[in-house]
Amino acid sequence: MPDKIVLLPDNIANQIAAGEVIQRPASAVKELLENAVDAGATEIKLIITDAGKTLLQVVDNGSGMSETDARMCFERHATSKIKSIEDLFHIKTMGFRGEALASIAAVAQVELKSKRAEDDAGTLLEIENSTVMRQEPVAVPNGTSIAMKNLFFNIPARRNFLKSNAAEMRHIVDEFTRVAMSFPHILFTLTSNGQQLFHLEKGTLKQRVVQLLGNHYNAKMVTVKDDTDYMNIYGFTGKPKRPKNTGRPVLFVNNRFIKSPYLNHAVMNAYQEMIPSDSFPMYVLLSK
Ligand code: ADP
Ligand code: MG
Repeated sequence: MPDKIVLLPDNIANQIAAGEVIQRPASAVKELLENAVDAGATEIKLIITDAGKTLLQVVDNGSGMSETDARMCFERHATSKIKSIEDLFHIKTMGFRGEALASIAAVAQVELKSKRAEDDAGTLLEIENSTVMRQEPVAVPNGTSIAMKNLFFNIPARRNFLKSNAAEMRHIVDEFTRVAMSFPHILFTLTSNGQQLFHLEKGTLKQRVVQLLGNHYNAKMVTVKDDTDYMNIYGFTGKPKRPKNTGRPVLFVNNRFIKSPYLNHAVMNAYQEMIPSDSFPMYVLLSK
């Protein structure tokens, strides 16, 4: 009997691994927005066509990348954010696994443009199926633009699995909202099919919540702030007076959006007796 085991080619291994990171356009929104935040951007634009199925682009004014880094960033396990296992315990960035861009490049056509402030020219890079198709110097503003085109063009089964544009767009707006809410000091815009859906000026958390959830929340929020030895909590909860309290719970720990039935229960307990048992208060709480 001949031996049976073969090593998968890189692009196939990347496609398989990508399945865990990029499930739908909204997964790429999360990864690309977080990379822009990690790059120290103060302005981040998200541009979408066809709910991200045709185009999903994030433009930032962050640190930019050198020519070599621009190429390296698409390799699996390529990261500038950790160097050793110990670093895992002091992570200050949103990303650290070095998998997002490798995954995106495995399942879409990607165009990257990036320039650091100290460089005269930027770098343009086109990647398809994890393969570099084009690399050349380009005149671009400082920062990075990453465009993901035709998601899953090379995996038709997965492309067919995507939901309607309306459903995928809802996921995109959810991810955008979560990141934008975590970083109110950053300007975010979201444009979909040429129409600007959000233009979020820099401001306080309260202003950001109102920008995202609507003006009517302004008078309905109570500020929460508590600093203990274990953690600092900051945020807003809906006033119990609202007759129909159907706000959504939003919890962030260290700037990461989390869902926690346990913590949700704790907040609900605090509302006990104050609101009908079938209604849900809105709250936005950040803990660090
Ligand atoms: P991770 O964020 O886990 O490090 P990614 O695949 O998301 O992995 O990114 C790989 C690397 O590419 C990052 O560590 C960073 O150095 C660089 N990078 C990615 N996006 C940007 C960006 N928008 N601006 C500057 N550098 C970036
Ligand atoms: Mg990342």
